Amino acid sequence: MITRRQSLAAAAALAAVLAAGPAGAQEKMKVVATFSILADLVKNVGGDRVEVAALVGPNGDAHAYSPTPADAKTLAAAKVVFANGLGFEGWIERLIKASATRAARVVASTGIKQRKMEDEDHPGRIQTDPHAWQSVANAKLYVANIRDALIKADPAGKSAYEANARAYTAKLNTLEREVRAAVAKIPADRRKIITSHDAFGYFQAAYGIAFVAPQGVSTESEPSAADVAKIITQIRREKILAVFLENITDSRLLKRIAEESGAKIGGTLYSDALTDAKGGAPTYLDMMRHNVRQLATALTT
Ligand code: ZN
Repeated sequence: MITRRQSLAAAAALAAVLAAGPAGAQEKMKVVATFSILADLVKNVGGDRVEVAALVGPNGDAHAYSPTPADAKTLAAAKVVFANGLGFEGWIERLIKASATRAARVVASTGIKQRKMEDEDHPGRIQTDPHAWQSVANAKLYVANIRDALIKADPAGKSAYEANARAYTAKLNTLEREVRAAVAKIPADRRKIITSHDAFGYFQAAYGIAFVAPQGVSTESEPSAADVAKIITQIRREKILAVFLENITDSRLLKRIAEESGAKIGGTLYSDALTDAKGGAPTYLDMMRHNVRQLATALTT
């Protein structure tokens, strides 16, 4: 038997569910991030209030990405679009235009100290290194920019975004201490490695491991035979211990360099993309921990 009190309670519960409807799952603010690492940072700040779509997914190469018609649709439905900037996503302007999106545009790297370098293939041409997220200090700036942009787009979520950003920044502080402690254990004369493209300049500047790469700051330029020969000579001369593969680039060239130079393969580093949930780096925190663990293992044993 259902008593009158029980049925009133059930009716009240139903009314509460109906009333909560518009503020529930369907009402999350739709936002877009250009690539998986940035999407993870946005998720951490947005929490329950936002639904984040990444255009370039796990293990994808955002330098050389070709947007699809589905991406234009995703952008059109978004309220905010987050890009890394610094020339990382050369395709984003055209895509935004094609999608006719009215989303607010946010450059997540705004305010970081940019790393400039000369393009080896075009002497005199200065390039900006876009891989700013490889320094945890920069990731904290990204988080602050993301927080401010979400508050602007959704003022009702201000306190939630502030609390999420604070909690996540505390995790980044812990991560930063871990990275420094791990690098400190590597003997100074061993802190130099080879990777496929020049994605770790900010990591190098922040933590003091030197990275040498046959490819420049973008994966779009092919290394020349002379670049490869130069690196093999450098490995031998400087007794560089390890060559690291990257999850977004073809590993054949690096394997050849390792073979010809006598350096060992140290493992795989995650440079420009996370892995899927089953891989070694489904989040930014996992990615940085994985990379520093791989470096420490290869350079201390
Ligand atoms: Zn890159």
